Amino acid sequence: MPFKLFINGEFTDSSGGEEYEVTNPANGNVVDRVARGNVEDARAAIDFGADALKKEKSSKTNIARILNIVSGLIRDHETELATLMTLEQGKTLVESRGEIKFFAHTIEYYAGLKARGSQVQISDPTKLAVVEKEPVGVVGAIVPWNNPVLLMGAKVAASLAAGNAIVVKPASTTPLSTLKSMELFKQAGLPSGLLNVVTGSGPVVGEELVKNPKTRKVSFTGETATGKRIMALASAQLKRITLELGGSNPLIVCDDADLDAAVNATLNGRFRNAGQGCMCVKRTYVFESIAPRFVSKLKERVAAIKVGDGMKSDTTMGPVHSMIQREKVELQVNETVSGGATLLLGGREPDDSELKAGSFYMPTLVTDVDRTSKLVAEECFGPALPIMSVNDLDEAIEGANSSIYGLGASIWTKDLGRAKKAAFELEAGTVLVNSLYGAGGWEIEVPMGGFKESGVGREYGIEGLESYTETKTVIFGS
Ligand code: NDP
Repeated sequence: MPFKLFINGEFTDSSGGEEYEVTNPANGNVVDRVARGNVEDARAAIDFGADALKKEKSSKTNIARILNIVSGLIRDHETELATLMTLEQGKTLVESRGEIKFFAHTIEYYAGLKARGSQVQISDPTKLAVVEKEPVGVVGAIVPWNNPVLLMGAKVAASLAAGNAIVVKPASTTPLSTLKSMELFKQAGLPSGLLNVVTGSGPVVGEELVKNPKTRKVSFTGETATGKRIMALASAQLKRITLELGGSNPLIVCDDADLDAAVNATLNGRFRNAGQGCMCVKRTYVFESIAPRFVSKLKERVAAIKVGDGMKSDTTMGPVHSMIQREKVELQVNETVSGGATLLLGGREPDDSELKAGSFYMPTLVTDVDRTSKLVAEECFGPALPIMSVNDLDEAIEGANSSIYGLGASIWTKDLGRAKKAAFELEAGTVLVNSLYGAGGWEIEVPMGGFKESGVGREYGIEGLESYTETKTVIFGS
């Protein structure tokens, strides 16, 4: 049975009757078939969302209670959801389990959060002014393939908790774990129409979510170029938008850093999920005096990464998500090396004949890198890391800030003065000081988002919840 769209509380075929195959990046095998939604399906889902909100005016469902049930059900179904995610996305089963745990935690977190308005004393003492937070209405959510359920979960939980209806468009290559999780929302008793999932291509289903006058807000995570297109389309109706876009997070290692901890952070920050995370470490600036020791320790750890099918228990890094994605990384590495950089490790597909049908790429380290090279100037969404030597913190910060992106940045130092300087001067939405990406970079309780071309607005935390509300001032006369 192919996977179906989830519209108005029911699993339904696409109105056009079309389906397509979702394949496993580790071997090219078909994981399952899924309905291919179209503009009519997107419109139907949006209409049902609007109707569901009208019904909620009288039924006033306790959404927080339902979200708490959902988070328990997600935990009960961790193995099933994580397995499906590894098969469609490629990451290791351990990584998929981590993502499902984060999904459950996110739903639980927003179940317990309420947007807070205020009462304000105004100059006329006979009047009472109240500032309230209202739901925006129907939300369109567009999600990429790298963390399909985690990113969908934050959008869904925050918008439902704020009192909205939502229509989700998953990435075309990773719709299965998302659709499977809809069974749990249904089982928990979420009223029909408040949450819908329409698969289909970005320019078709995604753009309908942006252009349809009944969606009042669009929350998008994906490539910066796509974000710019969405912003342009949304401007026609001055539609509310949150854009979580690309990142090229720098990591600075000072000469007084705990070197083993910094190496560990770089390893995890760059190579988890095969380097496919907006918050991954993508550039390293290391003080010259310790660079040889840092590079040698890192090389030893990276060489020990076991590349393979994410379903195998000894695999520590799965394939890159698709052949197209691998080609992009290959091009960035090859051009950087042909421009004069030194290839220290990787830079090729694995030799293992069992992995030939998958989109695998060996973990790659590159030194002596020119700062204008593709690996530094562009976002590298794969397992390749450029390492650059710097003389001092000023040079490191200047290099770190020279990117068009500003999502995250991190520094390793024991010197409080250096830490403070970096925290104030780094142009990034999240700065980590002696803290590991993956723990510090993915906390649902604090806002996350980008400076510069890394995005608009913030997700997560109370800021994430409030981004799904409108602010209304009400003044009561005497
Ligand atoms: P895309 O921007 O191509 O796709 C993301 C989502 O947008 C998918 O669901 C896609 O649909 C949809 N989409 C594509 N074109 C349009 C359109 N014209 N209108 C509306 N929706 C559209 O990104 P990728 O899938 O290539 O994801 C990788 C990139 O995303 C990375 O390079 C990284 O920069 C960025 N990223 C950023 C994150 C962040 O939090 N800042 C997190 C993850 C990724 P379809 O799948 O059908 O093409």
